[in-house]
Amino acid sequence: MFGNSAMRRRALLAGVVGAAVAPVLGGRAQAAAPKVYIDPGHGGSDSGAIGNGLQEKNLTLAISLQLRDILKANWNVDVRMSRTTDITRSLAWRTDDANAWGANIFVSVHINSGGGTGFESYRYPTASAAAVNLHKALHPRILSGMRSVGTVTDRGLKTANFHVLRETRMPAVLTENLFIDTLADANLLKRAAFITATARGHAQGIAAHLGLTGVAPPAYSVIVDNSTAGRFTAGSNWGTSAYSSQRYGADYHFASPTPASDAAWFKVDIPAAGNYRIEVRHPADPGYNSTTPHVIVTSAGTRTVNVDQRVNGGVWRSLGTFGLAAGDRDLIAVSRWSSSSGYVVADAVRVTRV
Ligand SMILES: [Zn+2]
Repeated sequence: MFGNSAMRRRALLAGVVGAAVAPVLGGRAQAAAPKVYIDPGHGGSDSGAIGNGLQEKNLTLAISLQLRDILKANWNVDVRMSRTTDITRSLAWRTDDANAWGANIFVSVHINSGGGTGFESYRYPTASAAAVNLHKALHPRILSGMRSVGTVTDRGLKTANFHVLRETRMPAVLTENLFIDTLADANLLKRAAFITATARGHAQGIAAHLGLTGVAPPAYSVIVDNSTAGRFTAGSNWGTSAYSSQRYGADYHFASPTPASDAAWFKVDIPAAGNYRIEVRHPADPGYNSTTPHVIVTSAGTRTVNVDQRVNGGVWRSLGTFGLAAGDRDLIAVSRWSSSSGYVVADAVRVTRV
């Protein structure tokens, strides 16, 4: 009974959705920025699927945060997320929030499980024409993004009666980005470059659907968070905290300054020799360090840039542009060897080819 009533409601809403989206797609000069709702699947007490040392909730958040950043860096869009940290959100909360905000489109990011392999995506069985358009814009672009990094099977465009597809009053698509319990898929999901390519594919699909023009996303840009699997190492004297709301992702690392070699390292896979802009992100606090040393392994030796972590928290801060050699290695260190007092903090880095 519930299903029938929900389907009737969906059918009634389909006409409203088309009318609401038309001004955006029509490209009126004065049109407001389109409202993109990103829904990282699961979170908090709901880990989602698990396998090969990975949890779905962390991967969906990593992809979604990068998707948000790529969208906002390249186009005039308004982005809202169902969560930006590791918190629990019910399915009803997510769709209620998107509906109340008046989102123009809804994209839910998930990781599959059950022993298959590859990428598939979903829309509602009786989805509106606009939702079909969104689905067809997203799927091939995500797939080609993934295939720029590794071999990925195309499982196709599918339909399903999922809550987030049924109860949203705007075009909605749910993506299942590889299988967490299949080793070859999990090995791709562990690569920062794959997470970034997947996020970029989502962004390009959204931009194509909304008819956004402007700068294309950079050829290579990768974010490594202190929680990115296999990409961050810190000794036992480093603590983990979620205290500051300015953190990137679920948490950040911190340590007291000391004259010792006990740096925290971000490992980055540089695709080709060239010049790259290196940015860092950290929460700020008056009690943090005023001269936190950041060491970069450039093709001309190591370079050190001090960052005042008392200010400018929660934003990307450029350390400069550096010549880097190709290869996968520990690239950027946050050192404890500071003569100033206050915690040194390691949260996230972004490396972009320029
Ligand atoms: Zn899921």
